[in-house]
Amino acid sequence: MTEIRYKQILIFQAIFLIVLALFTFILFKENSDSVKFIIVWSAAIIINLIFVKRYALPSRSLLSKIRSSAIHEDLSWAEIEESITRKDDAFNKQKEEFELENLKYKRLLDSLQDPVCILNRDLIIIYANQAFSDLFDFSGKKLPFPLIEITRNLEFQEFLKNSIGEELTSRRSYFTFNQLQDPHKTFFDLKVFPVDKINNYLCLLHDVTERKMADQMREDFVSNFSHEVRTPLTILNGQMQNLKAALQKEDNFDSRFANYFVKIDNNTRRLINLFNDLLRLTSVESKKDLVKESIDIEEMLTFLTHDLLINYPNKKIKFEILLDQKIFFVDYNLFEQVLLNLIDNSLKYIKDSGVITITSHHEDSWDHLVIKDNGVGIPEDQINRIFERFFRVDTSRSSEIEGTGLGLSIVKHIIQKHEGRIKVQSKHLDGTSFTLSFHPSNF
Ligand code: ADP
Repeated sequence: MTEIRYKQILIFQAIFLIVLALFTFILFKENSDSVKFIIVWSAAIIINLIFVKRYALPSRSLLSKIRSSAIHEDLSWAEIEESITRKDDAFNKQKEEFELENLKYKRLLDSLQDPVCILNRDLIIIYANQAFSDLFDFSGKKLPFPLIEITRNLEFQEFLKNSIGEELTSRRSYFTFNQLQDPHKTFFDLKVFPVDKINNYLCLLHDVTERKMADQMREDFVSNFSHEVRTPLTILNGQMQNLKAALQKEDNFDSRFANYFVKIDNNTRRLINLFNDLLRLTSVESKKDLVKESIDIEEMLTFLTHDLLINYPNKKIKFEILLDQKIFFVDYNLFEQVLLNLIDNSLKYIKDSGVITITSHHEDSWDHLVIKDNGVGIPEDQINRIFERFFRVDTSRSSEIEGTGLGLSIVKHIIQKHEGRIKVQSKHLDGTSFTLSFHPSNF
């Protein structure tokens, strides 16, 4: 407590001296023992010194600061007093303005329909707007209090802890809170970002239930539709093969039919591939938890390259595999699909002969895998669009090659599920390379 209280200091000193004088008078009235006298006065001096150090010295140093600044600026005591009063008024005005500003922000946040709270590093809620307290049903509870008192959602807490640990970042994800009064599932998008330099974080929830439900309906529809169509299509294809085999056995088989059969064959295969890819895409989209494990990609690549190459008997293609990083912690089936799509694309888009180079390395805390070919490449103005659903590069070469335009969309979704990155570099007629990157902290 360094507050200056001149009056109290003076009163204390006066009382102290009176008590001391009385005490000395009573004690030494009859016998004048000099040892006792010295002890009593020494104790008195020590008490006084402590008092002076605690209360009087800070005021003295403050006064000397004021005096030196007064000498410096050539101010009289009256001017100093006036300046202090002015500063005091300015401070009070600033305080008022600050409180008003504070109130404005509070009102603004309270009027928001989205739940908002401010948390500190220890996940203590220090502010919550009305929507937030309605959501967790704690209206009237006195702030601050730990977040854990209103929600046991571990995923939510873990996410907050991680976001708060990473300074100056904002992140988002889906959350549901089962303990809510509302029996329907509600999905929220969450954003967390620092609001000041003393480690307070704004946590903004946004209800995205409708969007999530619409996405779910779309996924269900595509998945059900693809299932329903695929079954009769496969039966049709089987019957068609039987018919073709039966007709070809006939002695008077009309060779014109052979051409029709090729067309029917190609188109049923295209349709079957399309529905298979659609099913794959929806199953990746709806997959919630990845089953990650340490995978030796060298082994996986050996099998894949061998199996895929069989489908291109007329091409002369060489694989060069140089792996500095062999173990990747990924979902086996999904990662296999990624490699399958990328290597198959390289094989498809190399003209007649070429080289596919696959390398891997660890850099800047990320594990990278690069699949590079010297095929037809992608025109620069279309590179940005290749991950879109059904997008196929518009070149005469592409239209000759079979494809659904869904392969890279599936790849992108799988990489996103792993919280990884995918980068493409390509030049028209000069090859393409895809770089997949995974961060070990996302494992
Ligand atoms: P598709 O089934 O048509 O191959 P993808 O989604 O796998 O569909 O790829 C989208 C488009 O990107 C392809 O149509 C092709 O034009 C281009 N593309 C993808 N990979 C390569 C590659 N390695 N070389 C050249 N073009 C590629």
